[in-house]
Amino acid sequence: MKVGVVYDPVYLGHDPGEHPENRHRLEAIVSRLQETGLWEKLTHIAPRPATMEELRRVHSESHIRYVRELVESGGGQIDADTVVSALSYEAALYAAGGAESAVEAVMGGEVSSAFALVRPPGHHATRKQAMGFCLFNNVAVGAAHAMDKYKLQRVLILDFDVHHGNGTQDIFADEPRVNYISVHQSPLYPGSGSMEERGAGNMFNIPLPPDCGDGEYARVYDEIVILIARRFKPQLILVSAGFDAHWAYELASMCLSINGYAQIARRIKALAGQFCKGRLVFSLEGGYNPAPLAGCVKAVFDVLLGNERIEDRLGFCPSRESPPDIVPLMVRLKESFGLS
Ligand code: ZN
Repeated sequence: MKVGVVYDPVYLGHDPGEHPENRHRLEAIVSRLQETGLWEKLTHIAPRPATMEELRRVHSESHIRYVRELVESGGGQIDADTVVSALSYEAALYAAGGAESAVEAVMGGEVSSAFALVRPPGHHATRKQAMGFCLFNNVAVGAAHAMDKYKLQRVLILDFDVHHGNGTQDIFADEPRVNYISVHQSPLYPGSGSMEERGAGNMFNIPLPPDCGDGEYARVYDEIVILIARRFKPQLILVSAGFDAHWAYELASMCLSINGYAQIARRIKALAGQFCKGRLVFSLEGGYNPAPLAGCVKAVFDVLLGNERIEDRLGFCPSRESPPDIVPLMVRLKESFGLS
């Protein structure tokens, strides 16, 4: 069972300055994987830049041109959160292309699963707009590639970043070959992601109240995500893997532990095994504290490699009070999604 990793130093070139989404995130992940000996157990997949034709599957021509011209002019600010520097366009092309390289390796059978360690992240980038640290929507480019090149008819995108993936929703709201499930905190940036936003019936938003932890997330996967997957029967699962629902991230209010992320990864791996011959691609989204981020990513690789033991140096949230009661929400979600 080979597990792939997509990584290239080109991703370090995107430099938004003093910013939570910086190169140290990837450096911390790679160091942790190297120190612990996991790095050499992985199959290394070289990313390539996405082509214009591939980007145009999910982005408007004017959006692509805008990002390129801003970078060519020396960089600058797109919105309050989203900044580009001289090497950002190249990094963004390779981030989108990295998701495609991971899809190719999994679809070609070189590896059974893969994790694209890319930046800038992607899930807030809409068809026409960069926002929320994201320039191009890497997972969407990967999903479109799977549908175009491999003629897949059913691609499931799971998004466990603490923020709603408004960009992915925008891009695929009318695409019946995609089911998108986002489990995110609400209220929180970017403000979208209510359960009523159903696209063409293929969007499944699971907005959770603050303070949800490992137990609440496990329930969501066991009682809702699995039913949607069972009904859809995906041929490939892509994951927008954001680790900012870890309790140590102070700009959100979730309480997942590293072990909790491992539990989620186990469930997703089981779904891939059940429905699509294990074909599974993770693509890095958020997660801004280097230590928890590196620990969570390592835990996902441990799960993919089949290692039983998960190292959680940080443990559970020290200040967590009582967890919220999500039972009424789960009932409403099941009704809304036609699962009951
Ligand atoms: Zn996020």
